[in-house]
Amino acid sequence: MGNASVKRFTKEFTQQEAISEESIERAVEIMRTGKLHRYNVSAGEKGEAALLEEEFAAYMGAKYCLSCASCGMAMYLALKSVGVEPGDKILCNAYTLAPVPGAIHNAGAEIVLVEITDDYTIDLEDLDKKAADPDVKWFLISHMRGHLTDMDRLMAICEKHGLVLIEDCAHTMGATWDGKKSGSYGNVGCFSTQTYKHMNSGEGGLLTTDDPEVIARAIIHSGSYMLYEGHTSRPGMEVFENIKKLTPNYSSRMDNLRASLLRFQLRNLDNQCKRWNERYRVLEAGFNTIPGITCPKRPEKEVFVGSSIQFSLVGQDETTIRKFLAAALERGVELKWFGNSEPVGFTSAYGSWQYFDNLPELKETNRILAVMCDMRVPLTFDLDDCRLITEIVGQVAKDVLS
Ligand SMILES: *Cc1c(COP(=O)(O)O)cnc(C)c1O
Repeated sequence: MGNASVKRFTKEFTQQEAISEESIERAVEIMRTGKLHRYNVSAGEKGEAALLEEEFAAYMGAKYCLSCASCGMAMYLALKSVGVEPGDKILCNAYTLAPVPGAIHNAGAEIVLVEITDDYTIDLEDLDKKAADPDVKWFLISHMRGHLTDMDRLMAICEKHGLVLIEDCAHTMGATWDGKKSGSYGNVGCFSTQTYKHMNSGEGGLLTTDDPEVIARAIIHSGSYMLYEGHTSRPGMEVFENIKKLTPNYSSRMDNLRASLLRFQLRNLDNQCKRWNERYRVLEAGFNTIPGITCPKRPEKEVFVGSSIQFSLVGQDETTIRKFLAAALERGVELKWFGNSEPVGFTSAYGSWQYFDNLPELKETNRILAVMCDMRVPLTFDLDDCRLITEIVGQVAKDVLS
């Protein structure tokens, strides 16, 4: 192969789109008022955070929404608000990002790791088995990298064992299973608005639920300074009466500036999801023609958001995978790898969560993560960029994979 045929990709995998002018204008307006704190509003005025909550609840078809500091905090507030006590056991899929076990640890709970399958979703048989432990009543599912398991089967298992379900939807904001929104299956849905997710306010989290007591506790936990009346996405004031003195303030609010950035983005979210999927489908089609690369087939009931793509290098050993990643990087294609024994750059295998005692060995998850690659798909890439990426990955695979 001559040098002329060696192509390079030059765009950045961490470059998200700019914040739109209308969001910037709104944010500037908010800054001009100086009223950035969510409870700094005049009588009868709804702040941006409260409006965002109303609008996101409506988008989700949920009764209530709370905006907060991050998705990690949304999960922590959710766990505390449903009633998790220190020492409780919480089921969780072993393939997820560090803030998920972090939220469990923050709540003083124990993690019960569940295996995953070759399509990167939770192993429902292992879940069913582990949920049979009478000590286990909580379940935090992370729809990691946007892969939804069969939610009908998952809900049946929750019902069978009386599990309270909390969904981490950091990668499924805008996704549905069988026409129902991801995050509306569980008792609580948690979302991220951190820069690399589907809406971007730098940092931020959203929590949705239909349960009046859960939202009341979450609002007070998030740091309402007893100003919860100013929330408009809330149940009647009487719901707060019994719990207000029993619910500590964990100060993790969202501010009006961030909320102002998100309100316009929410109006455009479904369109952005479509754009992500156009890119995903080009990448998927291209990757699927490359010998040695396997992209999981997506179920028909799943409408996902392709803001990242994963594939497996089935049968390859560590040395070959490292060579593959290095060769791709040399040509400008930045792939992440979940098989690394050291946690680096947003990847983290469960073995590195050593703040939990007695982490088990999950043989299936180890086998799957050992060959799993991961790539961000920012919307600053166009369809030709995606075609070029598949071409480069194809060349690298041909050169490196055995
Ligand atoms: C990003 C992410 C989170 C947490 O989001 P933050 O807002 O950064 O706390 C949770 N789960 C998954 C799978 C994520 O990728």
